[in-house]
Amino acid sequence: MLNLSRLKSGEYNNIFRMNGVRYFFNFAVFLKSYKIKDLTGISKRLMKQIRSLVEDPGDITLLTHINPDGDAIGTMLGFYWFLVKKGRNVNMVVPNEIPFFLQWLPGCDHILIEIDDPDNARRLIRNAKNIICLDFNESDRLGSLEEEFLQARGTKILIDHHPHPGDFADYVISDAEIGSTAELVYNLIGISGWSHLIDKTIAECIFTGIMTDTGCFSFNSSKSETYRVVADLLDKGIDKDRIYKLVYDNYSPNRMHLLGYSLNEKMVVIPEYHVAYISLTRDELRKFNHVNGDTEGFVNYPFSIKGIKLTALFIEKEDHIKISFRSRGDFHINKFSEKYFNGGGHKNAAGGESNLSLDKTIEKFVNLLPLYSKELLDE
Ligand code: 5GP
Ligand code: MN
Repeated sequence: MLNLSRLKSGEYNNIFRMNGVRYFFNFAVFLKSYKIKDLTGISKRLMKQIRSLVEDPGDITLLTHINPDGDAIGTMLGFYWFLVKKGRNVNMVVPNEIPFFLQWLPGCDHILIEIDDPDNARRLIRNAKNIICLDFNESDRLGSLEEEFLQARGTKILIDHHPHPGDFADYVISDAEIGSTAELVYNLIGISGWSHLIDKTIAECIFTGIMTDTGCFSFNSSKSETYRVVADLLDKGIDKDRIYKLVYDNYSPNRMHLLGYSLNEKMVVIPEYHVAYISLTRDELRKFNHVNGDTEGFVNYPFSIKGIKLTALFIEKEDHIKISFRSRGDFHINKFSEKYFNGGGHKNAAGGESNLSLDKTIEKFVNLLPLYSKELLDE
């Protein structure tokens, strides 16, 4: 049973906010209490809130973050098909293009991409009665849609799993202990009593979110609950091997050559700090006919080197440097990214940006390492 006073202690990073009040809860405890049908006040209120949101007859617009990943798009489409099944009029908007390895997902062609049609993207945000934000914790993750979103009069609901959600939504359902937003949405549908509505299409989308955000169950996936969800999704008839192939065995020869080049020519290992990084200039990307999504996952490869605790990938864009960071163990890479590179994310997976040149950005990164020698060298 939920013990609100214990959960309010700040022990958990999970927030459910209603009418301006932030409640903390542990989703796993919550689910157990749901299963034994012994719901306390907060659980009942959350369930009621989700039901009234889903049954509210107004138009819904689903939003997710810039440079959307598998969790962002999988969650959006899974929730979309569920809401359509519930008879809702739903629109989906993302700030920029969807990587090619996600474009096979059912309904992907219904998603409006802001850079393709900015006027309609803004209109769908402006006119929605309910705006549901998926898989991001700060409004600036909406890129150039942020202003329109902040001014929109619709009710804003955030469903997310990043730590420390910002204060931009009217309702927040956030659980940083859950591996993916897809798993969270699956649970929310379940606790509202609608599991039977989850069909193969919805299950494929949700599974894609879970699989990609856990690196095929190699991180963020140590809780047994995740596998119970996956078991349910398999029972809905999904072909997990087919989904794996569509996402991961879907690259061009150019991309493999770019990966080989990155590891062979561009990876720098700094053994004294247990750090490795890769950087790619625009010219190098052009040489390999780079398309959006090609460098996905490159940041993880250096972890195969014994002892590496922190990795970074620096990509030169037209007017800035985009950075991906990954860490192992207790190194809070999201805090590091937020402090020095205007970014954020999860404890072990974060991203950021720099307006310096590529060389200067790397120099800044390398010069910061001595400040963290203790954390980086701890076994
Ligand atoms: P990736 O490196 O795969 O792009 O992102 C890893 C994680 O960091 C994701 O959870 C993503 O949402 C977050 N992230 C990536 N870039 C940024 C950024 O510029 N700002 C913030 N706040 N989070 C980011
Ligand atoms: Mn996610």
